[in-house]
Amino acid sequence: QAKQQGRNCVVAYRDEFGTQASERLALVSQLRDALQTDQFALAFQLQFDQQRRPVGMEALLRWQHPERGLLTPDAFIAVCEDSGLIVPIGRWVLREAACHHRILVAHGWGHLRLAVNVSAAQFQQGLVDDVLSVLRDFQLPAGILELELTESVVMASPDNVIRDMATLRDAGVCIAIDDFGTGYSSLAYLKRLPLHRVKLDRSFVQDLGRDPDDEAICDAIIRMAQRLGLCTTAEGVETDLQWNWLAAHGCEELQGYLFARPVPFEDALALLNRPGGA
Ligand code: C2E
Ligand code: MG
Ligand code: MG
Ligand code: MG
Repeated sequence: QAKQQGRNCVVAYRDEFGTQASERLALVSQLRDALQTDQFALAFQLQFDQQRRPVGMEALLRWQHPERGLLTPDAFIAVCEDSGLIVPIGRWVLREAACHHRILVAHGWGHLRLAVNVSAAQFQQGLVDDVLSVLRDFQLPAGILELELTESVVMASPDNVIRDMATLRDAGVCIAIDDFGTGYSSLAYLKRLPLHRVKLDRSFVQDLGRDPDDEAICDAIIRMAQRLGLCTTAEGVETDLQWNWLAAHGCEELQGYLFARPVPFEDALALLNRPGGA
């Protein structure tokens, strides 16, 4: 009986493994299809200064899946990354975000930054050229574009990424380090990175006003950023208490459900054009 069970276990393991692998394959082919048939969309989340004036918006990838409905990146971004599909998808994201600039200009919001997330594979596959051609093609002033990258993107290939970041910075593009404090980069790298901004990860922001440890971490990151001449944006701001704490401690910019959710561009524009502005 034990033998029987043992064999079942092996079979079950194989089955599960087999299913996952074939599911992943199916997902890759659906993603390739999605790119060809225009199933991707961007949601835009407004970003604000301490006085709640809009300063920018982050483009966030969405997938309008034919059967499963609207999917957020946690459902598919990892597969995009390890299949390499993030390169053409990321290129699409850049162009799609940039093409909205002229609409913002037409509504008097041409000064708002457009922030786009980028992955490590994009750096390895000609991100610099992609960005420079997007700036040209859409007549986007370089300072309007902000690239958000995580510590893991830098650590994937530090020397190459830092070199490309410097090229982009010299071209006038803004660069933010995303989810700061959750990765494995050392502070020595922070000194070498051509950055404009640090984004405080939501996990530290969440318990401000309740957890003295998180307060100590946020305070330390904001002060360090200031000393290094960098701006700070807090992610995931959901309460007035968090907003007040962050503003009082010198965090320049804020992003979170308290101010605006990620929404289709038209809805973000409607928020901006509301009397009083967002
Ligand atoms: P991220 O760049 O750190 O983006 C912020 C995430 O926090 C977004 O999740 C946003 O919807 C969510 N968020 C914003 N405010 C709040 C809040 O107040 N409370 C809570 N609970 N969440 C908030 P989303 O859109 O699901 O994106 C998840 C991640 O997927 C992003 O994290 C980013 O790492 C990645 N991602 C999104 N779009 C792209 C893309 O175009 N390319 C690449 N490479 N990655 C992307
Ligand atoms: Mg981001
Ligand atoms: Mg983040
Ligand atoms: Mg994140």
